[in-house]
Amino acid sequence: MTENVAPKEKAYLNFIEQIVARDLTDGKNDGRLQTRFPPEPNGYLHIGHAKAICMDFGVAQKFGGVCNLRFDDTNPQKEDTEYVDSIKEDIEWLGFKWGNIYYASDYFQQLWDFAVRLIKEGKAYVDEQTSEEIAQQKGTPTQAGTESPFRNRPIEESLALFEKMNSGELPEGSMVLRAKIDMANPNMHFRDPIIYRIINKEHHRTGTKWKAYPMYDFAHGQSDYFEGVTHSICTLEFVPHRPLYDYFIDELKEGNDLEDHRPRQYEFNRLNLTYTVMSKRKLLALVKEGLVDGWDDPRMPTVCGLRRRGYSPEAVRKFVDMIGYTKFDALNDYAMLEAAAREDLNARSLRVSAVLNPVKLIVTNYPEGQTEEMEAVNNPENEADGTHTITFSRELWIEREDFMEDAPKKFFRMVPGKEVRLKNAYIVKCTGCKKAADGTIEEIYCEYDPESRSGLEVSAAHCLPAEVRLYDRLFNVENPSADERDFRELLNPDSLTVLPNCYVEKYVAEQTATRYLQFQRIGYFTYDKHSTPEKLVFNRTVGLKDSWAKK
Ligand code: ATP
Ligand code: MG
Repeated sequence: MTENVAPKEKAYLNFIEQIVARDLTDGKNDGRLQTRFPPEPNGYLHIGHAKAICMDFGVAQKFGGVCNLRFDDTNPQKEDTEYVDSIKEDIEWLGFKWGNIYYASDYFQQLWDFAVRLIKEGKAYVDEQTSEEIAQQKGTPTQAGTESPFRNRPIEESLALFEKMNSGELPEGSMVLRAKIDMANPNMHFRDPIIYRIINKEHHRTGTKWKAYPMYDFAHGQSDYFEGVTHSICTLEFVPHRPLYDYFIDELKEGNDLEDHRPRQYEFNRLNLTYTVMSKRKLLALVKEGLVDGWDDPRMPTVCGLRRRGYSPEAVRKFVDMIGYTKFDALNDYAMLEAAAREDLNARSLRVSAVLNPVKLIVTNYPEGQTEEMEAVNNPENEADGTHTITFSRELWIEREDFMEDAPKKFFRMVPGKEVRLKNAYIVKCTGCKKAADGTIEEIYCEYDPESRSGLEVSAAHCLPAEVRLYDRLFNVENPSADERDFRELLNPDSLTVLPNCYVEKYVAEQTATRYLQFQRIGYFTYDKHSTPEKLVFNRTVGLKDSWAKK
């Protein structure tokens, strides 16, 4: 009970939080806690990144530390400021605040100097072989690799060639700088890893200053060290990189840091979701090839896609909480993400009336020109949200599916000769319908009972036309990443359904500040970014129930 973390709360700490709590209790790192979120600005953030963000920022927040945002911008081929901006926006939207913003490119000089030092100490050399030749010499985990013919070239030669690698006169791939470690090490990452390569492309921050760029393994750990990161948290695929991470930091410290101030790497399982992909390469292809409506297409697993789809940041964080952090990779069910959204939206959404597939219902005994204001509850989950009024009149729109001429016994909606209660309104008795030559029902008739006023229909003269977009799984197969076929072939052709002729009650159009709507009996919706007062467009966030559970 004397610890700063209450026992009850402690039971719920994930394994990384437990490590952090123990380090703080032990006074490690002088009691400092510093994490970082290190995205490469080569795409928009997705729900997997949201999981990493909740960890990196969340643990700092929970234990009074700081989390910085660091852009791992070491490869100008695919990086852009558009991505830098979107990443910042998404982190803020998720509800987190960084301490500082850093860029790995700020350390290019320091990293270069370190590389030069390694060459001078005989711990790095320039290799002029092709990447294929280098790969062939790697060996296998059980078989030692072959040493490069350039491995023992004179230090002066490597120094001169390293300079040349950065001069712009050499084509990409003509030579690389490798750390000289151990071609027989059972950890493949130690077999003289490539630490610098030539990229003749302008960098979005450093311009044309550099041509030789550090590899991930030579930039990441060092950046952590320069910044004073204490806990460098990443995903499980980096477990085999950890010894190399430590190796370069040991070299960098040069024994002059006797207190062993150093970042330590910890790994958790990455988020994989069914019926979608997380690879930035594939997401970029979907965008570039016009297979979706941009990075923020509501079917995309991106943070901006979820936002446009109508997810709240709380729903995304709730989902991350639900799945938790472990040391084992898994495939998470998309239905869990939707369940988190439903739970969250049930508590916060404004209830309104809408009709997606309208057919006209005429209350024949209701006086023409007469209207009545009925009271509708905004949110039964929160009385404080109040009520609004909805207009009742002689002509209404109802869902086509809510009427059947020859209905089975269990059909409790509108059937000729039977009574039903209209929501927020009266009990009516259906008296018949009018059909077109092809059998399409054009109008339905009923009579109301004036004594039965109570409280889904919308008044035809008091509603607004709207376009509604329904979304389904982006992919047809549960795990597209594990499928041999090209991912484009696995796309669900029915992932988007546009309903152009819907109606929503007028009140909706006045509620532009409310992003979260429930169309009663139908599902949760939000305004699309292309919605205007002249043309309302709504996205379905998620249905009221899991329609996939039955399939
Ligand atoms: P790339 O293929 O471009 O490296 P990436 O998905 O690894 O893509 P980064 O920008 O390098 O993207 O990732 C930033 C951080 O987000 C890293 O710490 C990474 O471990 C984490 N991250 C990426 N994808 C996931 C995921 N699916 N689940 C959890 N964390 C993830
Ligand atoms: Mg990465």
